[in-house]
Amino acid sequence: MRLLITGGAGFIGANLCAFLTGFPGVRGVVALDDLSTGSAANLEGASAELVEGSILDRPLLDGLAAAADTVVHLAARPSVPRSLADPVASHDVNATGTVNVLEACRKSGAHLILASSSSVYGDTEVSPKHEDLATRPLSPYGASKLAAEAYALAYGKSFGLPVLPLRFFNVYGPLQAAGHAYAAVIPAFVDAALRGEPVTVHGDGEQTRDFTYVGTVVRLLADAALRRVTGDTPVNLAFGTRVPVNRLITMIGEILGKAPAVRHVPARVGDVRHSQAACDRLGRLFPTVDPVPLGDGLKHTVAWF
Ligand code: NAD
Repeated sequence: MRLLITGGAGFIGANLCAFLTGFPGVRGVVALDDLSTGSAANLEGASAELVEGSILDRPLLDGLAAAADTVVHLAARPSVPRSLADPVASHDVNATGTVNVLEACRKSGAHLILASSSSVYGDTEVSPKHEDLATRPLSPYGASKLAAEAYALAYGKSFGLPVLPLRFFNVYGPLQAAGHAYAAVIPAFVDAALRGEPVTVHGDGEQTRDFTYVGTVVRLLADAALRRVTGDTPVNLAFGTRVPVNRLITMIGEILGKAPAVRHVPARVGDVRHSQAACDRLGRLFPTVDPVPLGDGLKHTVAWF
């Protein structure tokens, strides 16, 4: 099995490359990344070959996909605020870039595993969110991920391409960047707390998220690649936990032995109030997956900082 991982030098991609190093049945891993948010340093210790380039470079992509049995497509501008600042750039990478990846897979016959996002659900109070709910993205980012998964499903139907569109919820763990304006909530909180600064909460902190440890995600992605799992509908990738942001702060404080100070700012445009996955479809496709509990994942994450 040879794998191409787009966005392979990013947070989830580099964790996946490390996990696949020495994995039985894996003969080669190529990480294609333009290093816009990822870094070569993330791949230290992994045996992946880093190709610095963009998914917007179609000839490059075609050549790399031709040598792969499976493509795990993670490359994206993965941020709601960045998509509000520059919607066209998000569309170019997340939607057009995905069509490029699909075209490359169509030519090579590679199996495609795609990272979509829970942000496609957007404006709905239904909880947990099951995959057949109407999608109403609240941000250009959510709209671009919805376009990406719709294209993947259309390529499956139109060309028989083996695809698996996974809707990631909130993934966290080592290598997730902190200390910048677009940081995800867990690295932002851990980073601030370790520096003795207040954590910034948007709104009242009672908004909830369904967190999945990155170690669980990469095990599942490797399993999907090796068993060539496909889906003709999107599949939530989360385990149905519903954790308020305020509870997360308490748990981080318990691990650090000191409760972080909290600074409240207004809720952000484009953020959803509650996010919890229905996970029966995931359970049917991956019956043996056993997620790392949040407390353990947070300890690993704090230890990495
Ligand atoms: P990340 O920013 O760490 O990884 C994305 C990688 O893509 C980076 O290494 C970046 O340099 C690379 N990239 C960006 N534009 C590129 C381009 N044009 N060509 C090649 N590489 C490019 O983010 P992540 O958290 O690892 O996210 C991986 C995927 O998972 C993304 O598709 C994201 O939308 C999706 N996702 C992540 C989460 C999460 O909680 N982390 C939640 C939902 C969906």
